[in-house]
Amino acid sequence: HGHAARARQHGGIVLSPSKAQIAAFRQSSSSFRARRDRAGTFLARPAVTKAGTAVRMQVNIADPSEVDGIDIATCDGVGLMRTEFLFGKTLPDEGTQYRAYRKVLEWAGEKPVTIRTVDAGGDKPVPGFTVEESNPFLGLRGIRLSLARPEVFRVQIRALLRAAVHGNLKVMFPMIAIVEEYRQAAAMFAEEQTALAARGIANKMPPLGIMVEVPSVAIVPEAFTEAAFFSIGSNDLTQYVMAAARDDAAVAHLNSVRHPAVLRLIAAVTAFGQREKIPVSLCGDAGGDPASIPSLLKAGLRDLSVAPAQLAMAKAAIADVSV
Ligand code: PEP
Ligand code: MG
Repeated sequence: HGHAARARQHGGIVLSPSKAQIAAFRQSSSSFRARRDRAGTFLARPAVTKAGTAVRMQVNIADPSEVDGIDIATCDGVGLMRTEFLFGKTLPDEGTQYRAYRKVLEWAGEKPVTIRTVDAGGDKPVPGFTVEESNPFLGLRGIRLSLARPEVFRVQIRALLRAAVHGNLKVMFPMIAIVEEYRQAAAMFAEEQTALAARGIANKMPPLGIMVEVPSVAIVPEAFTEAAFFSIGSNDLTQYVMAAARDDAAVAHLNSVRHPAVLRLIAAVTAFGQREKIPVSLCGDAGGDPASIPSLLKAGLRDLSVAPAQLAMAKAAIADVSV
């Protein structure tokens, strides 16, 4: 049973399971189904704790076709649209990107859609774009790569500026470590906007925010008050704080968002945002994890973005929290 429980929690595989292990998996799968069915009743309602505290619940998506299966009334918008899927085999042109972003913005209507500029590298290699390196998690990934390849980045920037007129767009940059990266990226947005306007092409400047997923930002958030908002990427923040790769089962026991070192940083960033009136949300997988939700709310977060499949269970878990 111990092995079965560990495999379930950490996504392991049990080869030729014993009868007892099979029984344990059946048991946990049926109790999961029961919890999921109960959670279904929470989906249509706004998320609120036992104490009556409201929690904003947005969804994480990638491919725009995902929104076809989501009722916009069940969430407060898109807290993270990953754009790596667009960068599959070839680099996407401006029109392809514009159509993908516009589809999601029109689906969301008035509600915000936070699109993240391409976060290639690390666990997300893109042939023809990312580089070979010995330690990709600490290498040329996210905003670092975008700034190193401005001719690729500017295509995405133009597509975003043009799509922005079709809804309530926000844009954020992944893997920000120092404020100069934010400034360079923001300057490129301003330049491309000027160029589009000069050509008479409809466009709009969205609020520009940052992912908080590199410890340097979480430790010294006051260096980033220029950003319009913060979105905590707990997947990467946890792996960098704990020095335990997010995709390595051998160190999964160390990779916990509930370690006090990670929670202290999340609480500090959240408190800083409140003081400085900078909105703070969290879009890592922890936001949709019923076991982590109580700790995140205790850390002060009131704004989570979760995988659509986890939305109902997350709302159900929030209803059990007494903050
Ligand atoms: C994160 O790091 O928590 C995050 C949301 O981004 P990604 O999982 O795409 O790296
Ligand atoms: Mg990340």
